[in-house]
Amino acid sequence: MTAIAVPPELIAETIAIRRDLHAHPELAFAEVRTATFVAAKLRELGIETHEGIGGTGVVGVLAGALPGPTIMLRADMDALPMTEENDVAYVSQNPGVTHACGHDAHVAMLLGAASVLRERVAEIRGRIALVFQPAEEGGGGAPAMLKDGLIERFGIERAYGIHIVSMYPSGMFGLRPGPMMAAVDSFDLVVEGRGGHGAMPHRSVDPIVVAAELVGGLQRIVSREIDPLEPTVVTLGAINGGTTYNVIPPRVVLKGTVRTFSEETRATLEGRIRRIADHTCAAANATAHLDWHASYPVTANDPAEAEFVTRVLAETFGAERVVEIAPVMGSEDFSYFAQRVPACFVFLGAGDDAHAFPNHHPAFDIDESAMAAGISAHVAIALAATGR
Ligand SMILES: [Zn+2]
Ligand SMILES: [Zn+2]
Repeated sequence: MTAIAVPPELIAETIAIRRDLHAHPELAFAEVRTATFVAAKLRELGIETHEGIGGTGVVGVLAGALPGPTIMLRADMDALPMTEENDVAYVSQNPGVTHACGHDAHVAMLLGAASVLRERVAEIRGRIALVFQPAEEGGGGAPAMLKDGLIERFGIERAYGIHIVSMYPSGMFGLRPGPMMAAVDSFDLVVEGRGGHGAMPHRSVDPIVVAAELVGGLQRIVSREIDPLEPTVVTLGAINGGTTYNVIPPRVVLKGTVRTFSEETRATLEGRIRRIADHTCAAANATAHLDWHASYPVTANDPAEAEFVTRVLAETFGAERVVEIAPVMGSEDFSYFAQRVPACFVFLGAGDDAHAFPNHHPAFDIDESAMAAGISAHVAIALAATGR
């Protein structure tokens, strides 16, 4: 085992940075305060700094003393549009916005890793791009940075990312080779009927009854049409229609999300939903309008990179701290980096009895002691990936 030494004062600073970011969360592509802070910190460390990549993205480039490959370490910066329900000193100061996915910790950990790596440039063979990405939570900050030429501009050959999760015990690492996180697409489905008096249903086309049939009908896709061994989710997250007791509304709007684990299955979902919506509506004299929003692809770890990262983490922390996990149905736009270069995404546990709410819960919080492991993991991966 070769532990990576992180000075106690750097761990304390990392926790302080995380708490400051937590108190001042910012939404997708509006991470101005966060990005400004990141850029200032990188410059303070004497690291070449590039701002405004893919919107509010920041890239620090740390050139080792010796020649070698260029790799990237990624941290996402955005918070979620929800209200925090924590009673802590560093509670969100921005109403309706909170870091409920740990991206505050990601930024702090990567800055901590930058400090450690800065001290070790003499032994680094290659270059490390420290990528601070905007808008992971649905906004597509990763593709925005790629569109801005991230890979070409910095010559990036491999990509690594760490995500804090409270569902694993603090300090545990989880990853798997191949597909690890699902593809996500979403849709708006409008059931257009004809409004009227609640007492005279025969003179209207009731979209509420049609919407109710669709709630059940769309569940048939997963239960009856998809191979049971192929992980797929169809979830309706919102149904909106109607205003009062005795009025049949003209339309009902449904919103849903779809998760799939293969591009083959993914490609069939829009057509299946459209078919069921069209025919269910037609049977009732209503009309369906489906708006499909293609989103993030499957996050797939390159098998060789997953093996490499597993080995590096086991050497750094001990094999008992690294677990091969089952795939999860959450999604990540790190997937776009993994489509471009060999890449590996890793979960870092930060849960304990006091921090047991899942990511995206209003009371999500983390065991901050896990952040020291996050710093060490970034450093160990960067040193090994550039040096080999
Ligand atoms: Zn999230
Ligand atoms: Zn996240």
